[in-house]
Amino acid sequence: MQIKTLISQEEIQERIKELARQIEKDYNSEEIVMIVILNGAAFFAMDLAKNITSSVLVDFMKISSYSGTQSTGNLKMKLDLSQDILDKNVLIVEDIVDTGRTLYYLKDYLLSKNPKSLKICTLLNKEERREFDISADYVAFDIPNKFVIGYGLDYDEKYRNLPYIAYVE
Ligand code: 5GP
Repeated sequence: MQIKTLISQEEIQERIKELARQIEKDYNSEEIVMIVILNGAAFFAMDLAKNITSSVLVDFMKISSYSGTQSTGNLKMKLDLSQDILDKNVLIVEDIVDTGRTLYYLKDYLLSKNPKSLKICTLLNKEERREFDISADYVAFDIPNKFVIGYGLDYDEKYRNLPYIAYVE
């Protein structure tokens, strides 16, 4: 398997600092509840959180969406929230938005809990692949339609710990 760097460690860290400044400004330094979608977004979310100087609460969710003959689109929740998000500024942190299916249904679920606000921040965005009407409020990098690994993204659960983002040839 040939691995080629798409986004370097330096580029990632630089972009995260920019995003953190933007987020602080947009939220006017109000408290944020980050909902980190496991496993992929963990690396990105922790680096992002460390760069935000205002108060950040962190919570985790693990989900997968049904496919095939099962009721398409419903979320299969493997780990649910551990805190109340009523009247909170919620920021979903995802690794990549591909078809948009996961976030489309997750957004609905979280909105039903009446947060004060709900936004999406993603490390990567594959616009070309979108099938569901979803767009992220913060995108670190738009990428072409390639299968990527590293910095949280896996290939068979491996490669998540690469400090850069690569594609497989
Ligand atoms: P969506 O629900 O937007 O179709 O899919 C999002 C999920 O698909 C991501 O959270 C990620 O787990 C997986 N995914 C989509 N594209 C890629 C990719 O290029 N590489 C890896 N490793 N996972 C991907």
